[in-house]
Amino acid sequence: MIPILDSKRQYQQIANEVEPAVIEVMRSGLYIMGKNCKALEEELAQYVGTKYSVVMNSGTDALHLALRALDIGEGDEVITVAFTFVATTEAIGIVNATPVFVDIDPDTFNLDADKLEALITPRTKAIIPVHLYGQACDMDKIMAVAKKHNLYVIEDCCQAIGATYKGQKVGTFGDVGCFSFYPTKNLGTMGDGGAVVLNDEKIKDRIIALRNHGGAIRYYHDEIGVNSRLDEIQAAILRVKLPYIDEWNTKRREHAQKYNELFAKCEDVVTPKELDDTYCVYHQYTVKVPNRDIVHKLLQENGVGAMIYYPVPLHLQKVHEKFGFKEGLLPVTEDNTKLVLSLPMFAELTEEEQETVAKTLIDCIEKSKTLACV
Ligand SMILES: *Cc1c(COP(=O)(O)O)cnc(C)c1O
Repeated sequence: MIPILDSKRQYQQIANEVEPAVIEVMRSGLYIMGKNCKALEEELAQYVGTKYSVVMNSGTDALHLALRALDIGEGDEVITVAFTFVATTEAIGIVNATPVFVDIDPDTFNLDADKLEALITPRTKAIIPVHLYGQACDMDKIMAVAKKHNLYVIEDCCQAIGATYKGQKVGTFGDVGCFSFYPTKNLGTMGDGGAVVLNDEKIKDRIIALRNHGGAIRYYHDEIGVNSRLDEIQAAILRVKLPYIDEWNTKRREHAQKYNELFAKCEDVVTPKELDDTYCVYHQYTVKVPNRDIVHKLLQENGVGAMIYYPVPLHLQKVHEKFGFKEGLLPVTEDNTKLVLSLPMFAELTEEEQETVAKTLIDCIEKSKTLACV
C-alpha cells in the first residue's frame, strides 16, 4: 500500500530531536502558552516575513479570529471560493457574515481574480483567497481589486506554508495570513495548531486578546473571546520541524516534477499547472482523470491511496442550504470537483513508489474505460 501521506517516515527522521524537546516540556511544568509558543511566534514571523505571528489552536480559528479582529460580522459579505476545505467558509459562518462565492481558474484550481469585481456589493468587506494545494493565488490582481474597493484580504495559507508569488511568501500580501499545523499539512504537528501572521500591531493585539477569552489582562475581559491557546508540546514539536520546511517543500517539488515526467506521454492524465510567477509547495499533487470515481476505486483496490479533495463544492453543501445556492452557479468549480484526484505526496516518497503510482494509475484509467461502458 502506498499511502497518500506517511507521517511515520517523517517522524523517524526527526525523532531524536522531537523526543527530548517534548520531554523537556513535560518536565518543565509549564504546558500552555509558555516559552516555546513565544519563540515559535518569533520564528514563524521571521520565516514568513511579517512583523508578528500569533499562534493558536487551529487554522480554522486563525481564519475566524482574523475576521473577528477586522470587525467583520452580521450583514457583511466575504468573497471566497467553494473549491476548498469547509473551514474557510465555516469561519465566515462563525462570525455570522455571508459567504459569496467566486468561481475558480481550471488550471490552478484557485480563485479566478477576473471574476471578483462583478461580485462586489456595498456589503462586501473582505476577500479570502485560498492558496489551494500549495500554489499561490494571483495576488497582484486580488490586491488591486481589494485596494480599489477598500476591502480586507485574509489569506488562507493552510495548505501553502513556504509558497511564494513573485518571490514573496504567501501570508504577507493581505491584512492577515492564516496557517494550520494539522498533522497532514506541509508543516504539521502532532495535534491541532494554527497561527496568523500580520504586520498591524492593533490587529495583532486584538487577536491575542480574542484567542484568550477576550482580554489583554488576565481576569479582565473586554469582549467575548474564545479559548484558542496553543500548548507547549505542539509548539516545541513545531520548532523542531520549522527549520526543515524548505527542504521538505523542495522534495515535494522534485516529486511533482517526477510525476509530471511519468505522465508526460499519457493524454488521459492532466497534470497540475504551476504558473511562472509562483513557487508551489505541492501540499497535494492533483491530477484530472476521466471516469474519476471508477479510477479512484480501482486505485484503492490496487494499493494506491489517492484521495478526492473535495468531493462536494461548498456552495452545494447542506450547511449553506439557507443561502439557496443552486447547481450551475459555479460551473468551473462544479466541473473540476468531478475530475480531480490527489496522488500520494510527501517528502519521503520514493522514486520507486512514484513509478508504481503512475503505472497503477495509467492501468486503472484503461480499465475504467471498459467499466464505464457497462
Ligand atoms: C486545513 C485547512 C483549514 C483548517 O485548518 P485546521 O487547522 O484543520 O482548523 C482551513 N483552510 C484550508 C484550505 C485547509 O486546508
